[in-house]
Amino acid sequence: MKKKIAMLPGDGIGVEVAEAAAIVLKAIEQQFGHAFEMEIGLIGGSAIDDSGNPLPEETLKLCRESDAIFLGAVGGPKWDSNPVGLRPETGLLGLRKTLNLFANIRPVKTYSSLAACSPLKHEVLQNVDMVIVRELTGGLYFGKPSERGGRPGEEDVVDTLYYKRSDMQRLIKAAFDLASVRGGHVTSVDKANVLESSRMWREVAEETADIFKDIPLNHMLVDHAAMRIISSPSSFDVLVTENMFGDILSDEAAMVTGSLGMLPSASFSEQGLHMYEPVHGSAPDIAGENLANPIGAILSAAMMLRHSFSMEEEAAAIENAVEQVLKSGVRTRDLAGGGETYLTTSEMTKEIVNALGDDF
Ligand code: ATP
Ligand code: MG
Repeated sequence: MKKKIAMLPGDGIGVEVAEAAAIVLKAIEQQFGHAFEMEIGLIGGSAIDDSGNPLPEETLKLCRESDAIFLGAVGGPKWDSNPVGLRPETGLLGLRKTLNLFANIRPVKTYSSLAACSPLKHEVLQNVDMVIVRELTGGLYFGKPSERGGRPGEEDVVDTLYYKRSDMQRLIKAAFDLASVRGGHVTSVDKANVLESSRMWREVAEETADIFKDIPLNHMLVDHAAMRIISSPSSFDVLVTENMFGDILSDEAAMVTGSLGMLPSASFSEQGLHMYEPVHGSAPDIAGENLANPIGAILSAAMMLRHSFSMEEEAAAIENAVEQVLKSGVRTRDLAGGGETYLTTSEMTKEIVNALGDDF
């Protein structure tokens, strides 16, 4: 099958892990007889350096002409003191908004072979297989300071948390759709004891549950959810929440698995053009050193094959290869727990590619 993929490596380790994902996609292309046309586009800091624009028109055009988008990560200290319009993150937020990528899907699965990497006890880690569904195009991240908030005076400041009911409806419906496919249940996370937006969120969750009669729904306050992710992560199936709560809880849940470098994500649009990216950021502290764990990026490529191209067998081949390699004891530095022996990004990628052809 012929597919066009917009590859947006971005900055820092984004570049290294996007390269790893591309190598794995090329191996799948050969093994299964597909044709993936991967074209690179600039976004974030690298785009600012090139043209002064964190989201160049050419990049948007490339994305719109593609069947799916792969993103590495954006940002870095070099651009931290830039004005807002010239920050790498503005490029990524702009891309999410422009392409209407409203639902961020983050699976959190523990590997028994990585139990030693997790700060949690072995018993607590059994059967952790949850998906965080995070709203991505609203909330505090998009409150426009110039219109509704900002700095009214020298000594005060306002950020606005704004949602339309329809934003909540489409996101919560996506979570219920996912729970139906998984045969699971939905936990809706909010702060309804404090926030008006959370009270509307609860109403919408209830209305949606009335449509999906077979899917159990429970509500949980975000502080309680933060605690439960540590005390009993296996009690969650699909966790759905607004933008900032989702940002925080998904980094927390990532650490349950042992490393931020392990987790993939997908961002779905209503129009069918989806984006895939590892959950981690550009990790300036290890950028350019070939030390990054490429697994989150490689598993994001697997999600792309499954969700955008309906290539289930190919996606499963990647996931099995990752599992196999981890079982064999191979580690990147983040997973090595202070041990001296670990592989570089490119060596780990090679191991996974080698395991692709194996039968398990
Ligand atoms: P962002 O704001 O873009 O989400 P962040 O502040 O959350 O970024 P990250 O860039 O994700 O930070 O990095 C957080 C920590 O995790 C860093 O110490 C980084 O080195 C480590 N880390 C992140 N991703 C990886 C990876 N793929 N492999 C190894 N270590 C990683
Ligand atoms: Mg982060």
